[in-house]
Amino acid sequence: MYGQVYVKNNHYRLKGAFHHLTPNTPIRNADDEWKLMGVTNPRDMTYIHSYGGEAVFFESLSKGKLMATRCDNSDCETKGTIHIPFRIHCPDCLGKNTAIDLTDLAKKTAKIHTFMVCERSGAFNVLDKPIKFINIEFDGVATILMSYLAIGDPVFGMRVVPIFKTSGPTFTILDLSWVPAGTAPELLPEGFSF
Ligand SMILES: [Zn+2]
Repeated sequence: MYGQVYVKNNHYRLKGAFHHLTPNTPIRNADDEWKLMGVTNPRDMTYIHSYGGEAVFFESLSKGKLMATRCDNSDCETKGTIHIPFRIHCPDCLGKNTAIDLTDLAKKTAKIHTFMVCERSGAFNVLDKPIKFINIEFDGVATILMSYLAIGDPVFGMRVVPIFKTSGPTFTILDLSWVPAGTAPELLPEGFSF
């Protein structure tokens, strides 16, 4: 059983196995009679990643909602500025931002600012290659969001709409993706919906 974690009385509670014993193997030298050079030491780690104030962002993705934040501090010179990615605190006044639902605005105004297509990926990648990373701009939002296009090829200025992994969510950023506006629902990747 994989290690599982919940919180009760403000403490982490751990269940299951967080360490797995995996056999090591010898490293031998093919150029010198296969003499022993060392061993591999497989290590399997379960990392407990706290989302803190960003938890509402990831919870909302699983419910088909894209959350942003806004500074509502009347003493702030940039009051009303909207941030996505989800910034817990205002970078100008350091006050706590208000979480707002950006789903409708994203559906109506999101477009590709720029993009890059990656033929190779790093370790643990689960996305299909080539990965079409896109930077998305929204009307009235101060920042640009990095994500990926699930269907089609990116073009500067292309109108895109968010899709959400509402069936079997991972509660990570992979629950959010984008498709060209007008994409038919039956074309969406498994588990995703508008
Ligand atoms: Zn502020």
